[in-house]
Amino acid sequence: MQPVSLVEIERSIRNVPDFPKPGIQFKDITPVLADGRLFGAVLDHLLEGIRPGTIDKVVGIDARGFIFGAAAAAKLGSGFVPVRKKGKLPWTTHEQSYELEYGSATVAVHVDAVQSGERILLVDDLLATGGTAAAAVALLEKLGARIIGVNFVIELGFLDGLKRLGNHPVRSLITY
Ligand code: AMP
Repeated sequence: MQPVSLVEIERSIRNVPDFPKPGIQFKDITPVLADGRLFGAVLDHLLEGIRPGTIDKVVGIDARGFIFGAAAAAKLGSGFVPVRKKGKLPWTTHEQSYELEYGSATVAVHVDAVQSGERILLVDDLLATGGTAAAAVALLEKLGARIIGVNFVIELGFLDGLKRLGNHPVRSLITY
């Protein structure tokens, strides 16, 4: 079978103007998910250079980060940990708030989800301003995680989200 290029994946991402509010160009990855060949290729690209046995847990960010993160974890043979929006996790959590354009948001992780020193790959579908990913990184650092990589399918480069992620190794497959 022909390998799938990033260009082909990019062509399948649907741009939805003015969703969920005016001015936002929403990057809809559902057409990629619906095509097994493309979904598999995104996972292959996301995990390029990462050998099985080098990541203890993949952490996915609510909600589309769960889709890529859980599939990546299964492929690596690693555990999966969800970072969720506040109020969704049933056990004791650490919480981290961050600023949005209007107001703020809070993400949470179970206090026992990651052990100190565990090697973590953080995954989300899209890096915009970086607030969400930076909050997830702060939670993981609180747990003593070693963040091996922060991988995104899409990066909106013009929003400078990279700046919020410090010196962590960040990789994005497709940049706008
Ligand atoms: P941010 O915290 O600004 O980096 O926003 C990243 C989070 O918001 C990710 O979990 C994305 O799923 C979501 N997001 C932000 N902007 C977009 C967009 N234009 N299209 C799709 N998802 C977005």
